[in-house]
Amino acid sequence: MDEPDWYCAEVFPRRIEINVVMETDSVLAFRPPVPGFGKDHVIVVPKHHVRSLLELDAALAAHLLEVVRTAARDVVARHGGSQLLGRHMVLANMGTMG
Ligand SMILES: [Zn+2]
Repeated sequence: MDEPDWYCAEVFPRRIEINVVMETDSVLAFRPPVPGFGKDHVIVVPKHHVRSLLELDAALAAHLLEVVRTAARDVVARHGGSQLLGRHMVLANMGTMG
């Protein structure tokens, strides 16, 4: 059994206030209200519990990446760059990082 995590305990049930950037049937993109994140930190997650990117089926993984791309386009337009970080160490840069 997995440990309870912040997303399932607080974010998905909306026990905390989040700034939703984009939401689909299966994916949520939001800015967290937690101090310490960057000024334009967008978190993109499947809307159900998953432990790893490796657990996603191919269709959901592709959809998740498309939501990431849409959110990143907006961030790149405003800041000139964007960085994608994953809990399990997926890392990608988009645009020019300062
Ligand atoms: Zn969870």
